[in-house]
Amino acid sequence: MSFPNPATSVKLVLLGEAAVGKSSLVLRFVSNDFQENKEPTIGAAFLTQKCTIGERTIKYEIWDTAGQERFALLAPMYYRNAQAALVVYDITKPASFIKARHWVKELHEQASKDITIALVGNKFDLVEDDEEDSLRKVSVEEGQNLAEEEGLLFFETSAKTSYNVNEVFIGIGSKIPDSS
Ligand code: GDP
Repeated sequence: MSFPNPATSVKLVLLGEAAVGKSSLVLRFVSNDFQENKEPTIGAAFLTQKCTIGERTIKYEIWDTAGQERFALLAPMYYRNAQAALVVYDITKPASFIKARHWVKELHEQASKDITIALVGNKFDLVEDDEEDSLRKVSVEEGQNLAEEEGLLFFETSAKTSYNVNEVFIGIGSKIPDSS
């Protein structure tokens, strides 16, 4: 006889500069949808989504915070008791990578010691094999190095094509202990 495992609830926050694609990543994960000209998130949005990883079910409680500076002051309210965070940057925008570094530092200083953080370089669809045509401005190595230095998971994604989006949430879920 088998019993269904109760879902493990995981509070997850998204942090990153405005327009890097935080809401789009959530929309892709939760509804498998994409909007070319998304209205910006004001304040914070809350969504839930279940994700099955092997024998376990994770119920993500997702807080998508707006990246504008005036809302950044509210961010501690969202990450304070989060078990997971996605720090998102746009691989075509170096300033958003610098901002991502700041968020990682802030999380390490202020968030729970056990928080699982994934560094996510979004808009991978804008990368071309031919370097001349590619809009890429942040190299894979830069992302990998930051992730290694800071002990983060690392993914490059596209909310537009859905490349690697589920992998982010599966990767995070695999790191979360059962007792959460
Ligand atoms: P947020 O402010 O970080 O939540 O960013 P949004 O999700 O609102 O996205 C900002 C803009 O970038 C919107 O016009 C999206 O359609 C676009 N966008 C988001 N993700 C991607 C992606 O992976 N590829 C491309 N090409 N555009 C994206």
